Amino acid sequence: MSDKYLEFANSKLGRSIVSVLGLPKPPRLIREDSNNPHYLSGNLLCGTTTGALYGTQINQSLGATEVNFVSEEAESCHLVFDASGIRSTDQTTELYQFFHNNLAKLPRCGRVVIIGQQPSNIDNVEHAIAQRGLVGFMKSVAKEIGRKGATANLIYLNGFGHKGLAAPLRFLLSAGCAYTNGQVITLTTPVTDIIPEHHWQQPLNGKSVVVTGAARGIGLAMSQVLARDGAMVIGVDVPQSKEQLEKAMSELDGIALALDITAEDAPQRLIDCCAQQEEKLQAVVHNAGITRDKMLSRMTEQQWQLLVDINIGSIQRINHALLATQMLDQGGRIVGVASISGIAGNLGQSNYAYSKSAVIGMVDSMAPICAKRGITINAVAPGFIETKMTAAIPFATRQFGRRLCSLSQGGLPEDVAEVVAFYLSPQASGVNGNTIRVCGQNLMGA
Ligand code: NAD
Repeated sequence: MSDKYLEFANSKLGRSIVSVLGLPKPPRLIREDSNNPHYLSGNLLCGTTTGALYGTQINQSLGATEVNFVSEEAESCHLVFDASGIRSTDQTTELYQFFHNNLAKLPRCGRVVIIGQQPSNIDNVEHAIAQRGLVGFMKSVAKEIGRKGATANLIYLNGFGHKGLAAPLRFLLSAGCAYTNGQVITLTTPVTDIIPEHHWQQPLNGKSVVVTGAARGIGLAMSQVLARDGAMVIGVDVPQSKEQLEKAMSELDGIALALDITAEDAPQRLIDCCAQQEEKLQAVVHNAGITRDKMLSRMTEQQWQLLVDINIGSIQRINHALLATQMLDQGGRIVGVASISGIAGNLGQSNYAYSKSAVIGMVDSMAPICAKRGITINAVAPGFIETKMTAAIPFATRQFGRRLCSLSQGGLPEDVAEVVAFYLSPQASGVNGNTIRVCGQNLMGA
């Protein structure tokens, strides 16, 4: 459903009315060009603190792009700041100065990326405190620049290792990060070697990926974006949606598998289907999910059980069966779809919030197990995304829900899909155990 208020606020007449009345002004976001995905260009100003660790790696990570590294004299530029040198809270002057002097230079839909060290991995208390402060700083910057459609995010590196910086840095500077705002991506030791020669535009060439709930909404967008990135998509959806699924998959040269993921034989049927393909299985994206909203006192046991089984139980069974094979070993990816309701809780969604919180728990607890087998597991937690699910929300609540984030609008299904594409990239093997909110920095649970 289109956001009519966004259209109005960006029209000639609307702009002045919205200004006079002091109403929210949702900016038009710039998204990936499907004909030229992952293309990076524009001016970039890099700043560092004294003793920063990753300056050279930033330049290397952005090699073979059209990014133009500029000096402070530039009038318009994206900003990357390596804050890894901050070892105590009295060493933050350079951080302040860099953003104080340059934040106004961000173009419309500009990008800010800050790089720091993960506090929980730092032994020195002063150092850990100083690095932790970056989260609050980055989130406040994100709020300040949101009205321009710009985003700010933070990459935490683990220890002194910089391996794998390229994938998150490139993603956070790209148009694919249009609705990913105010987030922290934590890098770990890569679970497999990072291939130095990498085809950034078609990273999934020759790989197959499973997307559940692929007939419509976010799952359909994921299938389209992953096919754009070269993947052969195996789309799964309930038998009732078979026709819709087959149509969607035929347009992507993918495979349609009409299957209820809660069925007893679902894990085996999925494995059999993957085994029949020529392409190696790269990933399973557990997107299928439902809502059954009711106040807890009125919720039937059936509404509870059905939802929990679809949104988390079946996912656990599929993971278990897949890991019993070696199909995903050495390079595979598992992605869960959580929700900001699973982070903040939501009125009338105790069943849904339970299941989505459990998805985050699955990522946290399985990440070390998967890492040993060269697999990563991560989740996305969408906020308000424009789909059939959110179109069913009553008008006033829907308008309110859209404006509740720093970008003053709902996200599109492809915004969630772009984060999944980033997780699936072979270069992202140092991204494990993360839950990234795709919510435009929604206030819920922030
Ligand atoms: P949607 O209802 O449009 O699509 C979900 C798809 O999953 C449907 O095609 C449905 O048929 C399929 N599905 C449901 N049960 C299934 C089963 N048992 N087996 C196989 N397929 C099944 O929903 P959406 O808005 O695209 O949401 C996709 C995911 O994103 C869900 O997990 C949802 O909880 C999550 N999410 C959505 C939003 C949002 O704003 N739309 C926000 C947060 C999280």
